[in-house]
Amino acid sequence: MADIGFPLEGKRVWVAGHRGMVGSAVVRRLAHEDCTVLTAGRDSVDLRNQASVDRWMEENRPDAVVLAAAKVGGILANDRLPADFLYDNLMIEANIIHAAWRVGVGKLLFLGSTCIYPKMAPQPIPEDSLLTGPLEPTNEWYAIAKIAGIKLCQAYRKQHGSDFISAMPTNLYGPGDNFDLGSSHVLPALMRKIHDAKLSGAPAVEVWGSGTPRREFLHVDDLADALVHLLKTYSGHSHVNVGTGRDVTILELAEMLAEVVGYEGRFDFDRSKPDGTPRKVTDVSLLRSLGWEARTSLRDGVAGTYRWFLENQGESIRTLAMGV
Ligand code: GDP
Repeated sequence: MADIGFPLEGKRVWVAGHRGMVGSAVVRRLAHEDCTVLTAGRDSVDLRNQASVDRWMEENRPDAVVLAAAKVGGILANDRLPADFLYDNLMIEANIIHAAWRVGVGKLLFLGSTCIYPKMAPQPIPEDSLLTGPLEPTNEWYAIAKIAGIKLCQAYRKQHGSDFISAMPTNLYGPGDNFDLGSSHVLPALMRKIHDAKLSGAPAVEVWGSGTPRREFLHVDDLADALVHLLKTYSGHSHVNVGTGRDVTILELAEMLAEVVGYEGRFDFDRSKPDGTPRKVTDVSLLRSLGWEARTSLRDGVAGTYRWFLENQGESIRTLAMGV
């Protein structure tokens, strides 16, 4: 067991972005810790406004912050809303990190994404490949904002000695995911398309791109567990990858989803849609050396997420601004 450098007992932990898939999983996970979870609705704080964030921080004085608030979306949404993805994410992270320093927050955990890495990064991707090459253009706006967030944590650590750390989760899925076809990531998008095709008796489901790109998928409850582990035990300059270290092709994913949903039609590939980066799988050796490994298999995680989707379909068709 790793040392507990930052015990959560009796602490006030603000989960910024508690309505999103990640934030809500962190809130669920923190319920098992002896700490007080703070959340802030849109009516009480505008995360894009520094004065509003400062005010909220001064009034609520958290001991720790999990920065899970972000504007997120899939490959097309990123491409269509570059200003929103860059501006909103830069403002949210700069405002929260700066305010956390000002009120003396003891620990802050910033969440990024593996799209921060160069398009042609070595696979599996080690943390130190950051800023070694050009980004994947389809999500560079989001990536640039998230890289700035990592650098903010490092800068406040260096200049002010703040214990601010960053975690870079791989592609996530699970309860609370976004099933809106215009803005969702591939796993919930294909789950919904396959489900709809099964209900309507459609002979085929459209898969964007060639089906050959490889992606790694992490269940959001595994991520939340890793984040709590990092909050308690990790205090370092480098960001930390959070993933499973295993990847599948988009076609393999589609086949697994069809099996879980019980759909027997075929897949048609729409090659006018972008493939994005050819492969994205994280090197998780740093995280392993810190004493954490993912537990949920993709098959079990997908089955559980499909059950959640069936129970929550109405609510699950969301707008873009997950987690903000
Ligand atoms: P990425 O991991 O940042 O590229 O984002 P996505 O999860 O949106 O896409 C991953 C891969 O799945 C890309 O190659 C997409 O073209 C492919 N894909 C196939 N069908 C779909 C779909 O219906 N929605 C999305 N978002 N991606 C899809």
